[in-house]
Formats: sequence, C-alpha cells, structure tokens
Amino acid sequence: MLVHKAYRYELDPNNSQKSSLFQHAGVARFAYNWGLEQRIMLFKSNQGTGQFTDAMKQHKKLNRLKKTCFPWMYECSKCAPQEALRNLDKAFRNFYRGRRTGKSVGFPKFKRRGVQDSFRMTGTIRFEGGYLQLPRIGKVRVKEKREGYHNGRILSVTVRRSADRWFVSITVEEELADPTSIQGPKVGVDLGIKTLATLSDGTTFPNPRALGRRLKKLKRLSRSLSRKKQGSKNREKVKLRLAKMYLKTSYIRQDTLHKLTTYLAKSHGTIVIEDLHVSGMMKNRKLSRAIADAGMYEFRRQLEYKCQWYGSQLVVASRTYPSSKTCSNCGNRKKELSLSEREYVCEACGIRIDRDLNAARNLVTVSLPETQTACGEDVRRCDSPGITMQTSAKQEPNISHGS
Ligand SMILES: [Zn+2]
Repeated sequence: MLVHKAYRYELDPNNSQKSSLFQHAGVARFAYNWGLEQRIMLFKSNQGTGQFTDAMKQHKKLNRLKKTCFPWMYECSKCAPQEALRNLDKAFRNFYRGRRTGKSVGFPKFKRRGVQDSFRMTGTIRFEGGYLQLPRIGKVRVKEKREGYHNGRILSVTVRRSADRWFVSITVEEELADPTSIQGPKVGVDLGIKTLATLSDGTTFPNPRALGRRLKKLKRLSRSLSRKKQGSKNREKVKLRLAKMYLKTSYIRQDTLHKLTTYLAKSHGTIVIEDLHVSGMMKNRKLSRAIADAGMYEFRRQLEYKCQWYGSQLVVASRTYPSSKTCSNCGNRKKELSLSEREYVCEACGIRIDRDLNAARNLVTVSLPETQTACGEDVRRCDSPGITMQTSAKQEPNISHGS
C-alpha cells in the first residue's frame, strides 16, 4: 500500500538562506494575490457563475508577464508561484463546493505579509547528512539530527514561518505493508476538555500538564496584547511571544494526540468515536475550548488515516446519538444533562458513573452496520439508526509527525 506521509522538521537557515526563504514566501504570496485579483475580476464580469480559469492557465499568464512586469520573480524557484496558484485553485474549488452543498466556505482572502508566510516546492529535494537540499535555496541545515529521516520518495515540501522560526513539512510517498485487519477489542472513545480522552474500558488519557500551564500563560498574554497600543513596539514583542507560546502549545497537543491515536489504531479492532460539529464549535470564543476543539478535529483526522494504515475499523456515531444522556447500564435516557454534571446518576437503575466513561461505554455499543462499505467510498448513511460510517480512502495528505 502506497501512502503519503508528512514529516515536519525545523530548519536552521543562515542569513542569506533566510532572506531567500522570505523572498520565496513573498513571491508565493504575490502570485496568490495576483491570481486572486484576476479571478475576482472574472468573477465579477461573469456574476460568479462558474470557474473560468485554473491554476495552469494562470501560471502560463503569469509566466508571460514575468519577463516584462515582474522580473524579480526570476530570483526564486518557479515552484513558489506555481504552487501558490494551485493553492488558490483549491481555495476556489472549496468555495464553489461549499456553495453547492450549502456549507459556509468563505471567499478566498488576500494574503498579508508576515501572516502565515509559506511556500511549497517540488522537484529535486533531498536530505544529505543533516541538510535539506532545496531548489534555488540550497542546503539548509535541519535542526533535528537523525540517522534516516524517512524512507520513500519526496513529493513536495512546504516551508512555513511560525513565531519567527522556519519549518518544513515534507510529503513523502512510502510503501507500507498492507494491513491485516486487527483482531483487537472494540473500544468507545469520549473526548473531553478536562480529560483528553476516556475509553470505554476505563482507561483515561489526561491532558499533558504542560498544556494546562501554557494555557494559563496564553490567556494572560493575549489579555496583555489587547491592552497594548496598536503599532507599538511593545505590542510587536508581546505578539511574538504569544505566537511562540501558541506554537509550543500546539506541538504539545499534537504530540499527545499522536500517541493516543497510534495506541488506539494499533491495538483495537474497532474504534467508535463521536461525530463532531467542528465548524460550529470553532466559533466558541474561549481559548481553552478553542484549542480543545482544534484537537478534536485533529484527533479524528489522525484516526482516519491510522486506522487505514494499521487495519482497524473506525466507526463514527452520528451527531444525534445521545451518548451522554443515555445510561450505559440500563439504557434509560435523560431529557437533560447539563455540562456541569460530571457524574452520571441514573434515576432508573441508580448507577453512578463518571460522565465521560458513561459516554464512552455507550459509544462502544454503536454497532458496525451490516452493509459494510468498501474502501474508497465516501461517507455513507447506514441502516442502523444514527450511525454514519466512514471508510474513505481519499483524504488530505496523511500528516504524521516526524516521530
Ligand atoms: Zn440506568
């Protein structure tokens, strides 16, 4: 089985490489914004009734203009603008798909300097003894020293600047042994805010303590940022500190999630999770909540591809399935259960049980639908009430942390 994996490393560029990285990010941003402007003009003249251009056409047009109008683009690899236009194409396709399916996908926005600076490259990219060879930029030192960085063909790299550091995410095509289906137990997983995950067998995964501490600091910093004057030096300082803190926090979170999802996918035959209304949850303003929500989205994403890799089955219970309100002991269903009730007390059978454990135990009873869908199909509603099963083989590039 050929899979796409992504590995992330931090780069340690020297000064001239740094300016080249900035330059590439700048060219990518320019191409993206140029392409967007062109498309808006088209969109207006056609009343937005369809797609009238694509990344290829735009890239050809930009290449013609390069000689006369933007000669400075020659200083960078041609990949940067080309891939940026591809990203733009994807953003538009998402936007149009959202229109068709009634999902609210925003109209692509212009990129700003210094905000999510990034670019993607393809072509001859390879590791050489602790260095990453990039077209036009040269051999850039990689901060993590390892024996073999990965085995497989490098398809592309995305270089990104976060909190004033440079990172690469390398997409690699790897040959993975075809999974034999795992004969492990079935498990229900309830994700929470206080406890990261509660399993139906009683195992709990706490949130890393470092995360809690960081969240407090993050809160304090973001409050202090809001008090700083617009455009002041102090504001910039706090902003950078906040970005750094945020980056570290998200790494801790990501790492914990990888450990959890690997454990689940490797040693369980079937994993049942709840469907999450992610877009709705993301709107929640509370910071800790927002990060937890992002984690939930990431959790499912990781589980989806890891289950495929290791041969376990992922079942996603429908949003309407009342996993929290139902008693896992007798099946009695409560009408109301407030979020503050940490313990589930059943009026029918008298059981007292941790709220999350109760939900996880209910999830484990969600059965696999009789008509199993073959791999490669998208989400399909199944006969059993309230159950959606997903066995999608098509997905975003499989991102896994370098560990
Ligand atoms: Zn009961």
